[in-house]
Amino acid sequence: MHLLRLPVVFAMLALATRAAEPGAIPPGPAIDEEAMRHFQALVRMDTSDPPGNERPAVEYLKRVLEAEGIETKVFALDPMRPNLVARIRGNGSKRPLLIMAHTDVVNVDPAKWKHPPFSATREGGHVYGRGTIDDKDNVTAALMTMLLLKRNQVPLDRDVIFLAEAGEEGNVRFGIEYMVREHRAEIDAEFCIAEGGSVVRAGGKVQYGNVQTTEKIPNRVRIIARGVAGHGSVPLRSNAVVHLAKAIAKISEWQTPMRLNETTRAFFERLAAISPPDEAARYHSILRGDESGAAQEYFAEKMPQLHSVLRTSVSPNMISGGYRVNVIPSEVEATLDIRSLPDEDMTRFLDELRKVIDDPAVTVEVAPGHSRPGAPPSRLNTEAFEVIEAAIKRHYGVVTIPTMSTGATDMAFLRANGIESFGVGPMIDREDALMGFGAHSDQERILEEALYTFVRFKWDVVVSLAAKK
Ligand SMILES: [Zn+2]
Repeated sequence: MHLLRLPVVFAMLALATRAAEPGAIPPGPAIDEEAMRHFQALVRMDTSDPPGNERPAVEYLKRVLEAEGIETKVFALDPMRPNLVARIRGNGSKRPLLIMAHTDVVNVDPAKWKHPPFSATREGGHVYGRGTIDDKDNVTAALMTMLLLKRNQVPLDRDVIFLAEAGEEGNVRFGIEYMVREHRAEIDAEFCIAEGGSVVRAGGKVQYGNVQTTEKIPNRVRIIARGVAGHGSVPLRSNAVVHLAKAIAKISEWQTPMRLNETTRAFFERLAAISPPDEAARYHSILRGDESGAAQEYFAEKMPQLHSVLRTSVSPNMISGGYRVNVIPSEVEATLDIRSLPDEDMTRFLDELRKVIDDPAVTVEVAPGHSRPGAPPSRLNTEAFEVIEAAIKRHYGVVTIPTMSTGATDMAFLRANGIESFGVGPMIDREDALMGFGAHSDQERILEEALYTFVRFKWDVVVSLAAKK
């Protein structure tokens, strides 16, 4: 356990009480060393997606788990891209707990790395490598939790299931989509704990823990402008390029309506409680439902993440049309990335969009492509959220702030199947992302101490939720 920057006396006091807690594991270097060994082994496997090649990681996990007598199964749509399910059985008095992590990582440009991206080099208290905070930290913490449950023969009220999934980084058809469609019973659970949160440290001080409880839904929408084709030497009012440009300008000026849900309301309330007065005033203005005030403008300009959290957002990201300079094209189009709130009625929203464009020459249609399921946010008044919140307090001494991701995660598939899902993560220095060491960044690294604490944290959460009461 690592109580950062707290006076020594508090640290000792906390250590003394921890031993009596249900989730406590002896704070010893042996467990840290073992976690680091598995972590480095996993980071050293190049599971860049595409192509993925998650097989060596699954074989490794299978070997380690089975060596200690833990039952595993492997499910694969593509033999090079398997998913592993390990299960430790409980007495069945509660429905299972699923701990999920993905073994694939995003691609790298090796030239950008000081240490080779699959070396898991330890330097200055960090471990460097692709996947160190996305998501081999979660894989390692889940693996260690399973090993410790088995070794300590912890009596369980519910099964604990570990899913190491493939394809999270953009190829869900090999991973979560396949598992939910073909092997639902293997991963069915009351709660899921996966990636998607973090504990934020800034200026060397731990600030708060983020737990992801819901996410926005991605939609691809095409807007197509049609006009009369003609010679470029004779400009036409019906020029499709002009109509499309006007439509995009109107969309960019449209502030879509703001709406809070249980998660985002708690997010702003809790953030306001720990923020300096000027920031808190902005959050309170949001909580009062102020749609037109300075706060909205401030977020749009300076904190676009928060602006997006408040609403279904529209971003025009692709545009195409025209093929030679002297031809007025008859058809041009743009593609919008629309991230809808979990409860958005998209048919109605697109009707609103058509009204905003207000041009009979422009049509709006849903683009073919991958669709993800929508689902209500996972609830805060659940045993799982309360346990996570208490564990964040115990291990990091900070409050928990529930969050809605603007991006998509694999938990959407589970929530759509009735599994309440919560995203957690290790402690990360806010400055690290700005320096280019974040998830999906040019380089990636984790604090060694953060990995060790995260293993203990996850173990604690799982024991609190699953151990026999
Ligand atoms: Zn990830």
